[in-house]
Amino acid sequence: MSDLRGGIDLGGTKIQTVIVDAGGAVSGEARRPTPTSGGPADVARAIEDALREAAAGAGVKPEDLQGVGVGSPGDADGKTGVVSGARNLPGWEGSFALGDALSKALGAEVRIGNDVQVAVEGEYALGAGKQHDSLLGVWWGTGVGGGIILDGKPWLGRGAAGEIGHMVVKRNGARCPCGRRGCTEAYAGRAAMEAKARRERSKGVETEIFKVMEKRGKDRLTSSVWEHALRQGDALTESLLRRAIRYLGIGIASAVNLLDVEAVVIGGGLGVRFGDRFMDDLSKEMHKHLFVDGNPPHMQVAELGDLGGAIGASLLV
Ligand SMILES: [Zn+2]
Repeated sequence: MSDLRGGIDLGGTKIQTVIVDAGGAVSGEARRPTPTSGGPADVARAIEDALREAAAGAGVKPEDLQGVGVGSPGDADGKTGVVSGARNLPGWEGSFALGDALSKALGAEVRIGNDVQVAVEGEYALGAGKQHDSLLGVWWGTGVGGGIILDGKPWLGRGAAGEIGHMVVKRNGARCPCGRRGCTEAYAGRAAMEAKARRERSKGVETEIFKVMEKRGKDRLTSSVWEHALRQGDALTESLLRRAIRYLGIGIASAVNLLDVEAVVIGGGLGVRFGDRFMDDLSKEMHKHLFVDGNPPHMQVAELGDLGGAIGASLLV
């Protein structure tokens, strides 16, 4: 048996796999698009293919790995390996024993965790959170996810802690993809921002962002589309990003008022893309709402990059 471990970041658009050594260095990686049709068994097969390719790149057989960790969306039960209600994956409204399915397919021990929580734990162990004992991870992407480390340990609550995206920042505010109103994600999540941009366009607001989308061959507003439209000086793009930052600042400040963490790490697709550019603005927005404003938390962008979720997942083993 080698000292290598596998890590898998299961996302709505792609499956990223890595093989890492005991120190967290990546020795193999592969990615696949997430199947857009079929069901959980098809997704599991795509994961298996990607993991086998990454293992081949690292010169190891899957069955010789110490184990494989999976960061999954939806309700991921670390004890049973069952994933339920992963609505951004095809046909995954119900429950599927992903851990068992992968373990059988790969001949290795498989552990399942929440995608954002494992990414935050990865930053805590190997990335932007290394210097700190307590941190709040804010994963700004399609949705807004979060993870909490307190006194050096993940805080999961009864399993559902860290949902900073659903901190209410405005009573009776904008409709959130979760169905409630006024959540941080209703203003800052990429899906909610896209829905807002489409509504503004249908009201006659001029914007280049959908032309940028088409030019780049996309059918939705990916983070790279947001970036290119911002670079072109599109006013709607800038105002929606600023609105997102404003509400993220409110949500983060409320969480910091409660938890008083040493550091806030911003990750996720939009977070990594825009974190450096908007960090000063985000800090300013947060400051307005800090109860104790003389000792603000360190604000940092996630350091492990695109592979962070998969590297974090490997730490489940
Ligand atoms: Zn919500």
